[in-house]
Amino acid sequence: MVAISKPKLQTDLYLCPACDGDGKHYIDKPDAVEGYKLARTIACPLCDGKQRFAKDSPIGQAVKAFWETLNDIRKHEYLKKVSDFEHSKEVARVALSKLSFDEIKALRDLDIISTDDPGEVLRKTFDTI
Ligand SMILES: [Zn+2]
Repeated sequence: MVAISKPKLQTDLYLCPACDGDGKHYIDKPDAVEGYKLARTIACPLCDGKQRFAKDSPIGQAVKAFWETLNDIRKHEYLKKVSDFEHSKEVARVALSKLSFDEIKALRDLDIISTDDPGEVLRKTFDTI
């Protein structure tokens, strides 16, 4: 089954992109048991530990432009995946429409096509036969 999840977009456009709003970076590797609990940290050099930038500051505007551009890229990639998936579904639907019920059943029984992907197309094809 093809899973296309919606992109995670940045909503806080003034969040520090270097530390993702943590305000710190770990300088030790995580302990196998304790994780980062005992790891030493340093303040994020970009935001100086402040986690966010002021809206009216030059760096705040630069960070906002960065997040907006990244959001646009993620939205574009998501829409491309959806478009490609819809195209694949249509190609599969056309291909399956040329097969008989027995041919489709044989392909399914041999796991050449699954009932999951493109399941919707397959079910519709079975329903129309
Ligand atoms: Zn930071």
